[in-house]
Amino acid sequence: MFRWVREQLSVRVGTVGKVSSLWETAAWGLTDQPSFLNQVLMVETDLTPAYLLAQTQALETEGGRLRREKWGARVLDIDILYIGSEVLDLPELKVPHPYIPERRFTLVPLAEIAPDFLHPVLQLTQQQLLNQCPDESKVEKYLADSQ
Ligand code: AMP
Repeated sequence: MFRWVREQLSVRVGTVGKVSSLWETAAWGLTDQPSFLNQVLMVETDLTPAYLLAQTQALETEGGRLRREKWGARVLDIDILYIGSEVLDLPELKVPHPYIPERRFTLVPLAEIAPDFLHPVLQLTQQQLLNQCPDESKVEKYLADSQ
């Protein structure tokens, strides 16, 4: 699934640059739920933010469909974290993504591939955001080779 998304992004959105490791986070609450895998990608694109969102949403729909047919109830969620130093506050697209500072599962992979990138509003790097993140959930590198 992760490889499929990267391939689709390179065809439909732009050049995929840095790619984080896969990071595993236990699901909150009930422990009988499968854990989540997260990956952060850097993509260079000429698309407008609205087209970018339309493409990632189309991929979520198609990927979710693929997954359901093959293995059951897994879902794909693609979030737009940053668009350079742009700040957008539209109902359908908020950039930087508003939950970045409070989600360790987002900040760990961000700090892996872009530790010095500045959050355009908070003026803190990804590494600084991670260091001060209150989220205590465990985020571990996922070592299986199913990238
Ligand atoms: P979720 O199911 O939590 O991924 O939320 C999806 C909804 O969030 C969609 O309706 C999007 O229009 C909206 N949204 C707002 N900002 C963003 C963003 N930065 N990336 C992805 N979806 C966003």
